[in-house]
Amino acid sequence: MSDCLFCKIGSGRIPATVVMQDDDLMAFDDVNPQASVHVLVIPKRHVTGLNDVGAGDHAWLGRLLEAAIQVAGKKGIAESGYRVVVNQGRDGGQSVFHLHLHLLGGRHMAWPPG
Ligand code: AMP
Repeated sequence: MSDCLFCKIGSGRIPATVVMQDDDLMAFDDVNPQASVHVLVIPKRHVTGLNDVGAGDHAWLGRLLEAAIQVAGKKGIAESGYRVVVNQGRDGGQSVFHLHLHLLGGRHMAWPPG
């Protein structure tokens, strides 16, 4: 989608601090980090949110999770622990309507979330 912020980041039209990428996904630092490690993992194809995922999407969705695990290792938080979050829709707190995983770590996370 031409006017989607994360499509622009995924295609390199808007700069980001890229942690890893391949043909299908990109992981980059969140511009407003909520923890010392806060990385977003996106599919390069446009998917608006979790509600738009279907039966044909298991493979790339699994790859997003696998990428989050790899980034946790790369950032040194695999052993201390981390949280992976998807915000879906208004009540979920989604503000960018291109599916993304938040990988958060480097501090203790409270539960339940506020
Ligand atoms: P959400 O509220 O779940 O949709 O999360 C969107 C996230 O995108 C927020 O944590 C923002 O800080 C982050 N964000 C917005 N613009 C950028 C950007 N240009 N580069 C990196 N992260 C961004």
